[in-house]
Amino acid sequence: MSATYEDRQLFIDGRDTASAAGRRMDVIDPSTGNVLTTAPLGDAADIDAAVVAARRAFDEGPWPRMSGRDRARVLHRVADLIRERADELVEIESRDVGKPVTLARHVDVETAAQQYEYCSALAQTLDGSVRDTPIPALAYTRREPLGVVGAITPFNFPLILSSTKIAAALAAGNTVVHKPADDTPLSALFMARLLADAGAPEGVLNVVTGTGPEAGDALLRHPGVDKIAFTGSTAVGRRAASVAGEHLKPVTMELGGNGAHLVFADADIESAVGAVIKAFVFNTGQFCMAGPRLLVAAEVHDAVVEVLRQAVPGVPLGDPRDPATVIGPMAGDQHRKKVEEYVALARQEGGRIVTGGGRPELTGDLAGGFYVEPTVITGLPADSRVVNEEVFGPVLTVQSFADEDEAVALANSTAYGLAAGLHTRDLARAHRVAGRLDAGIVWVNDWAMLDPAVPFGGVKQSGFGREYGPEALEAYTKTRSVVISLPTPPQEES
Ligand code: NAD
Repeated sequence: MSATYEDRQLFIDGRDTASAAGRRMDVIDPSTGNVLTTAPLGDAADIDAAVVAARRAFDEGPWPRMSGRDRARVLHRVADLIRERADELVEIESRDVGKPVTLARHVDVETAAQQYEYCSALAQTLDGSVRDTPIPALAYTRREPLGVVGAITPFNFPLILSSTKIAAALAAGNTVVHKPADDTPLSALFMARLLADAGAPEGVLNVVTGTGPEAGDALLRHPGVDKIAFTGSTAVGRRAASVAGEHLKPVTMELGGNGAHLVFADADIESAVGAVIKAFVFNTGQFCMAGPRLLVAAEVHDAVVEVLRQAVPGVPLGDPRDPATVIGPMAGDQHRKKVEEYVALARQEGGRIVTGGGRPELTGDLAGGFYVEPTVITGLPADSRVVNEEVFGPVLTVQSFADEDEAVALANSTAYGLAAGLHTRDLARAHRVAGRLDAGIVWVNDWAMLDPAVPFGGVKQSGFGREYGPEALEAYTKTRSVVISLPTPPQEES
């Protein structure tokens, strides 16, 4: 077994710590279905220990009191260490999530490093402003950290999504308790140690692995937690927001998506189809900002579907350890079953499977992995559940539109609003339609162009709050106003 994902412990108060109850859970390699290792099954007692450590680090420790520049140095060292230890992190994300190694290296690991780099710059921008006021006073604002942040993250991009929250929260001077997804906990435990190596003081980052209903729920309810940063499904997010609401904790909710991808007749069709394929197979479709709903101008619908029929089966699928692989397994058997149920439902709803629809035939170790074929479906009615719900796998539905108004109406017709995209050569249309789509981010003539400087987040059932960009700091700071009386001196008698 590699030292990279050896049986690790929880990380609390700067130390590897066995869970209070001593329980552990299996971690499965989705590319083979075999048990890879185990991780601690933390519960409310472990969450309590982690929150106490984070609370002490915030109330008494150096981290919130350090200058932004000193915090920036630590965060920058984290970025450097991520790159130095990239091989280990690629191995972890590939084994734990089933990610193709090329994706893990160039997207997951590199993005995490960039986030720490970007947030190290943000740490030096926490300033306030002087306010002009008619009252006889000097009035100014300060931006201050919130305290202890409870971060809860999903299974699909464990390293990126935890770094998104932790780097921004730490930049602002908060301390963090992180509860990663039950089925992909390994990079979180690795990163806890890496942050300590980079110089993060004891208690600044604590990681408790375990299930949502046990460890996650305990974090939501803990009175020592000042803010919840949640990324996950809309169903769980709704519950998490209401539990946090009972305790009047501020929340950021990054939830599900079901992005519409519009191709107008004047688009560069070859480039558009390339982006369409990327948008639905990226990370084996387990991407909140995926584009699983293709909306095509009626006059080019059949031509686009034909190109997809020919091209999609050729996307390299298989062993995540092969650098050429683009589509790996689903991250868990339950995720594959859910995709297969949606494909069966599509058949019942009258859909036509253009390509895919089954399991690929793989041999050797890979025969036990959780693979599904990339699948393209046409002919579904507008009220189809497969069109309107989040499938979260490599499944693309195709519908046609007659004009711009219908395209926008179809695009905005689901409950979600995370990402959307459009392809056109008409610049005026690009701006016009981008402004009409219900989505936190809109891409034009490509898909998944993401950068730590560019904010993203949801509208409607995709959540609220923004991550990335300077906006991320807003979510982890509060404003304090200071007003100093400057009484007018009494007039001296002449
Ligand atoms: P999930 O909602 O099942 O789990 C997310 C996290 O919540 C996990 O850590 C889980 O253990 C925890 N959790 C579960 N029940 C809980 C409870 N009762 N109390 C507290 N915590 C609980 O999501 P998932 O299946 O891991 O991830 C996939 C979902 O995440 C998809 O819907 C996807 O769109 C969404 N997602 C959103 C974004 C975004 O930025 N908007 C990014 C990635 C994934």
